[in-house]
Amino acid sequence: MKVLAILYNGFNAAVKEPRLLGTVENKLGIDKWLASRGHEFIGTFCAVSSDKEGPNSDFEKHLVDAEVVITTPFHPGYLTRELMEKAKNLKICITAGVGSDHIDLNAAVDHKIQVLEVTGSNVVSVAEHVVMNILTLVRNFVPAHEMIERGDWQVSDIARNAFDLEGKVVGTIGAGRIGYRVLQRLVPFDCKEHLYYDYAKLPVEREQAIKARRVEDIEEFVSQCDVVTVNAPLHEGTRGLINEKLLSKFKPGAWLVNTARGAICDTDAVAAALTSGQLRGYAGDVWNVQPAPKDHPWRTMKNPLGGGNGMTPHYSGTTLDAQARYAAGTKSILENYFEGREQEPANVIVGHDGQR
Ligand code: NAP
Repeated sequence: MKVLAILYNGFNAAVKEPRLLGTVENKLGIDKWLASRGHEFIGTFCAVSSDKEGPNSDFEKHLVDAEVVITTPFHPGYLTRELMEKAKNLKICITAGVGSDHIDLNAAVDHKIQVLEVTGSNVVSVAEHVVMNILTLVRNFVPAHEMIERGDWQVSDIARNAFDLEGKVVGTIGAGRIGYRVLQRLVPFDCKEHLYYDYAKLPVEREQAIKARRVEDIEEFVSQCDVVTVNAPLHEGTRGLINEKLLSKFKPGAWLVNTARGAICDTDAVAAALTSGQLRGYAGDVWNVQPAPKDHPWRTMKNPLGGGNGMTPHYSGTTLDAQARYAAGTKSILENYFEGREQEPANVIVGHDGQR
């Protein structure tokens, strides 16, 4: 059985830090285990590569006869319908992490290819990052640090755009595992209000635990928030959700944090809103294309006071703690698959019967 894993290169860091499991070098810690299973499953082969683009890439070469493909959202191998049609043996795609939008799920349904992810594996990691991003923006941290590195010291230049989180209205688009945990972590900050926008209302006791109020209309929701955090998946209903029109409904000078998926926000509309000051800050770790091109506007965009940019590479959900969890979860999904056992229902994105 051929198992193909598309991971990112860790180079020297991965050699020195074996807990960097999500790398080509450390192979999710499952290569030896897979090889040992090879005695039972004749022909098991594990190809691991970060060479994922184009027809001559390892990804496309090995995909042709792979039965299992493992990908991560951090260095996504984009599994398009066209590629799935070439992958005649493909039975199961495993996302080592959370978020399988790099896989054409409708094509997976049509081809009866299972899609699984390690649900919950990095939700705390991301929620902590969101809280950090909110504080980084609201307190104007990045320009303050850059000033120190430059050797300057002009407190007023920083303080004129620095605020307390206390007394602000914070809202999450999506109150699932991550969105809920973000608001839960913000309770001690004494914000003025916690809001959420989601399809379903939370049970009253869960709402009360995070002091949250649901707003059913998205324009009304954003118009009330000082801080908006995006914690919904990328799908047909969220792609480009935060566009020029919706940004114009935000409170002037609001902060926006997106660690969900880059394509939920319109790239140019966000850059324009930050440049004009309609947004005071934008932070997150997800991009519409990954790795982001060197000239991506989100790398360098700034608010009118020269700050407000908290962008990083996609790493919030791949802390060493998270890597241990999603590597273990990937192994467990593979074990279930090899043994013909039912998968954990929460991990199933497309089931073996082609159901979503
Ligand atoms: P989750 O538990 O499934 O929560 C997502 C919530 O968003 C669900 O309540 C969902 O409702 C809701 N939702 C879906 N579409 C919506 C819409 N159009 N408007 C408002 N709410 C909507 O997922 P999670 O574990 O919190 O993860 C959320 C997303 O974070 C993932 O899909 C992934 O893209 C991203 N993520 C990023 C990283 C990172 O490293 N940056 C790591 C992990 C996850 P339903 O359940 O009713 O659909």
